[in-house]
Amino acid sequence: MSAKKVNKIAVLTSGGDAPGMNAAIRAVVRTSVYHGLQVFGVARGYNGMIDDDIFEMDSKSVGNIIQRGGTILKTARSKEFFEIEGRKIAYENLKKRGINGIVVIGGDGSFKGAQKFSNEFDIPCIGIPGTIDKDIAGSDFTIGFDTAVNTAVEAIDKIRDTADSHDRVFFIEVMGRDSGYIAIECGIAGGAEAVMIPENLTPISEIVNILEQGISKAKSSSIVVVAEGDEEGNAQIVAKNIKDRMDENLDIRVTTLGHIQRGGIPTAYDRILASRLGLGALEGLLRGEKNVMAGVVNNQLIYTPFHDTITKKKPVSEDLI
Ligand code: ATP
Repeated sequence: MSAKKVNKIAVLTSGGDAPGMNAAIRAVVRTSVYHGLQVFGVARGYNGMIDDDIFEMDSKSVGNIIQRGGTILKTARSKEFFEIEGRKIAYENLKKRGINGIVVIGGDGSFKGAQKFSNEFDIPCIGIPGTIDKDIAGSDFTIGFDTAVNTAVEAIDKIRDTADSHDRVFFIEVMGRDSGYIAIECGIAGGAEAVMIPENLTPISEIVNILEQGISKAKSSSIVVVAEGDEEGNAQIVAKNIKDRMDENLDIRVTTLGHIQRGGIPTAYDRILASRLGLGALEGLLRGEKNVMAGVVNNQLIYTPFHDTITKKKPVSEDLI
């Protein structure tokens, strides 16, 4: 616990953007103002700390943003922050303004950076899980996941209409380099015939069996959702391998959803989660929490050490698989 009283804080978004980050920024800023703190925004993640792109914010700066996707602070991946020289410059820029608390909205990579920075310069940092991958330990949900899944489900529903009209098999690739949460949840909600995720290897032969069973039952369409990081390869590779093993007349198509999963209006769920975590992070910082991430587990606001969020992986629930 920190002995120093936090009275000037900085907030930044780091890593990949996620819908709902703006709602979290808004909650951090407005809770700070409510508690009489001075609050600064940092542009483009850790890059802004190093480039001194730091500016004061107030209640008005975060008006009319709760419903907007992306992040008004912009986000980035910062090479310089990996180096101690970069982090020293960042610290000097905070120090000259008297900033003595930091809220980082991002994924586990951003928390690694925050943990290092906090240990090196004795400045309390607190994290908010803002990433469309839900796999961070210490929170049942991350900001942006719900919106990303709903976007993917909407796309699957649309693809189902065309697949059904043409008797086609569609392979739909969704985001998730190391995590199958988006794939499994949009696959279930979209009624996919099969889902391929990095956490649970589904051999090509099994997919072939599932599709052949569907054909034998005169199914008019089939959808296979593939997480981009699946061990059998991305959707293009999987589709090609399957085509090679099945009837050559089978009409197979591939759609990669890509960045549409990151954008768009955040769902009510993401806005509420972000508001709750923004408030929780700031009030945690005021109570002396540091080097922790604010999360919601079993509907309770809790704080998990950065160390655990970085080293532990949240497995996909067996019942979903
Ligand atoms: P996403 O889940 O969207 O990928 P993330 O927060 O995990 O988000 P990363 O690219 O892994 O995204 O990390 C964001 C930034 O955090 C990096 O560009 C770097 O500036 C900083 N960072 C990550 N790991 C470290 C580290 N070990 N030391 C210092 N800084 C780090």
